[in-house]
Parts: sequence; structure tokens; C-alpha cells
Amino acid sequence: MKQEIPYKIYLEEQEMPKQWYNVRADMKKKPSPLLNPATSKPITLKELSGIFCEELARQELDDSTPYLDIPDEIRDFYRMYRPSPLVRAYCLEKKLDTPAHIYYKFEGNNTSGSHKLNSAIAQAYYAKKQGLKGVTTETGAGQWGTALSMACSYFGLDCQVYMVKCSYEQKPFRREVMRTYGAKVTPSPSMNTEVGRKINAEFPGTTGSLGCAISEAVEAAMTQEGYRYVLGSVLAQVLLHQSVIGLETKAALEKYGIKADMIIGCAGGGSNLGGLISPFAGEMLRGEADYEIVAVEPASCPSLTRGVYAYDFCDTGKVCPLSKMYTLGSSFIPSANHAGGLRYHGMSATVSELYDQELLTARSVEQTEVFKAAQIFARVEGILPAPESSHAIKVAIDEAVKCKETGEAKNIVFGLTGTGYFDMVAYQKYNDGEMRDYIPSDEELKAAFAKIPKIKE
Ligand SMILES: *Cc1c(COP(=O)(O)O)cnc(C)c1O
Repeated sequence: MKQEIPYKIYLEEQEMPKQWYNVRADMKKKPSPLLNPATSKPITLKELSGIFCEELARQELDDSTPYLDIPDEIRDFYRMYRPSPLVRAYCLEKKLDTPAHIYYKFEGNNTSGSHKLNSAIAQAYYAKKQGLKGVTTETGAGQWGTALSMACSYFGLDCQVYMVKCSYEQKPFRREVMRTYGAKVTPSPSMNTEVGRKINAEFPGTTGSLGCAISEAVEAAMTQEGYRYVLGSVLAQVLLHQSVIGLETKAALEKYGIKADMIIGCAGGGSNLGGLISPFAGEMLRGEADYEIVAVEPASCPSLTRGVYAYDFCDTGKVCPLSKMYTLGSSFIPSANHAGGLRYHGMSATVSELYDQELLTARSVEQTEVFKAAQIFARVEGILPAPESSHAIKVAIDEAVKCKETGEAKNIVFGLTGTGYFDMVAYQKYNDGEMRDYIPSDEELKAAFAKIPKIKE
């Protein structure tokens, strides 16, 4: 007898993954190594351990071990909000009148409101285990800073967050959540660091950027005894931790014998997408199954769809290792009227390499369309989605509508990375009809491409 699929597919606590999955292990052609910005040589464990915690540096460089045990202390924390549900979007299907079956993996059921907590808790754990005093980081809209401050307070670590100035001013609530968890939040560019002072002098009145905040956070870590820098996306270690999303999704689908046809995720730095698709991409790489995987990015910051695949700086201050990735150039700053998040100029090296190997495709979408999709979703599925997550919703809806035309009953799975309660200024703009789309011109992109370093491989 065919088992009826419930609205929410929950895994039991004991079914939660005991290991993370490292998709790089199954890639024949690996992502290109990180380079030391000073020498342009592949960065060593010793060099990387000066910036990151040692175990995290080791994870960053390990592209051959397929499974890594999740320490019990991290699993105990995961237990408070995981396994997260895989939801069958019956109400959305009905609204769209589609034969498609739509599923979403919901990562917004924790106070930080996003998937970022999955990696924050792991990074805080390894910092604590190494006996560090604290960590420094940057945050844009504030989700990562919030997740990290929760993780640090749990393990009793000091947490210093450089928050992009325009968000610091526009998103006071997120800032206050971080402070409630004990983090020290500084608007970036600040006068605390050399790079911050330099950027302030060069661009007076600048409201900052992620790349600039990263440079400040790295400098703060390097100049304080007992501190290391942690990052919420882009890095291979973060994708590794986020693989918990994909592993749970796969287990939940298997529980009901569902085979996904399409897997859709939004892509900023690539961590939720990378984590969601890892086990599925692994099957593809091993020749065991086939899926259509789609990365969705904003038209205003289109690193996969319009960027170049090259070694580039991860930050404006050029202090981080160089990474080969799809990039718009580290000097690229998306238009200030872009409200939907996913503003990073580059993309995870692993996602970039998978994209280059054509294991996934990418689409860019305009923000008014994204908010329209968010509204449709919110009205029938009850959850108020984060603007970032709504990029995936937009494409899931488009695909479900296509199925209506073709009569196909595709299984569409997408990542619903978080909730949008702190994004109400953006929603307000949309509701007031004041939201505008912005697509950078070729000339604008060319100007940023010209500043990408020329590295011989
Ligand atoms: C940070 C964030 C993203 C984008 O980051 P990725 O590293 O690309 O996953 C997406 N959704 C939400 C809710 C976020 O907070």
C-alpha cells in the first residue's frame, strides 16, 4: 500500500546524521586550493591555522575524507532544533493548481532564524576546544552574527562582530539580539582597525560592505591574543557543516520513497545550497543518480550567471586567502536599493567547481519577483520567508507552474533557509510599491572584473 505523505516529514532524533558529508571527496576534479595572498602559493595548514581554529583549518584543506564525525557536544546542541522538518507544500500546490509535488526543508526554526546556526555551533565548539578566548567575524544583514553570538554564549566564548554599517543602522533589532547573547557589535568600517581607518579615509561616509567587514574582522583576530576569525559562508568547512541539511533531506525523502527531480537553493556565498545539494551531488558524481540542481541568485549580484571563474580576493582588504571562484570582483558592491540579501561578490569554491562541471545550473531573479513569490508562499504556507530564501521559492513556483503546462508530476525540493521577521523594511518597500529592480550594466561588471588579480594556475 502506498503510504500517504504527511505535511511534515520529521525524522526521529536518533535519525539525525552522526557524520557530516564532504562532497569534495567524491569530486574527481577538486576545487582549486586556497592561495596565500602574499605568495600566491597554496596555503598551508600552519598558515591557515593562524587565521582559523586548527581543526577548522584542517577541515578546510581536507578534500579527500568523505565523512567526518559530528562531535557529541555539537549533536547535543543540534538536538534543540534539529532534525528540521521537510514540509510537503500541499497548500502551495493547491494554490498553484500544479501536478508537481513541492517539498521544502525548513531551517528557520531557531532563534537566529536561519541555517547559519548549523555551522556557527560547530565553529564555536572547535574554538572552545582549542582553548581560545573568543572569535571575530563580520555580518551583513545580521543572521550570521546572530547565529554566532548564540553559539558563543552557549560555549562561553567572547564574540566580536563587525556589522556592515548600513545594516547596523537599518537593522537595530538584529543588532540587539546579538547584544542580548553577549556579542560586541561594531559598525564597519570602524576606526578600530587599520583597514577600517584606511577605508574610512578613502571613502568618507561609506556605509560599508561585506568584503570590508571581513577585512576588519580578520585583522581584529590576528591582532588579539587567543582570538581566531570565523566565517559564516563561502568556505568549504561551512559547506561541510551545512551538509546536515542535505543529509536530513535525503533521509526524509527516502523514508517515503520519494525521488527528487529538482533541487533548488538560493545562493549567496553558497553554504546552504552546497549543504543541501552535497549528498545528492555526491550521488551524481559517483554515477548513482541524476538530479536537476538549480542555484538561484539575485540579478543585482549575479556571481554565477554573469561572473568570471578566477582566483579572487574574498575581502576588499585583501587579507584573506585567494579563492578560485565565480566572482564579480571583490570591488563589486551591489546597488544600495537591493534588499534581498545574497550580496556577496563571490561564491563557494566547491559550488563554483560543481557549477563549472555542469552538475548544477544557475538562474538570476529580480527582487520584485522574489518578494511577489514570498508573498504567495507566506499567504498559503503560513511561514514568513526570509528574502534570501524567497529566491528559491520564486524558482520553485516557476517550475511548478511549468509542470501545470506540461502535466508533469515532478518532485521539486527547495531549501527554505530562514524566516523574514527582521526584514520588514524590505517587505514594507515591496508592499508600498516602492521596490525597484536593479541589474548592473556590463560596463559596471567590467570595471570590477578589471580589478581581479591575474593569477597563473
Ligand atoms: C545567509 C543566508 C543565506 C545565504 O547564504 P548562503 O551561504 O548562500 O547559504 C540564505 N538564506 C538565509 C536565511 C541566510 O541567512
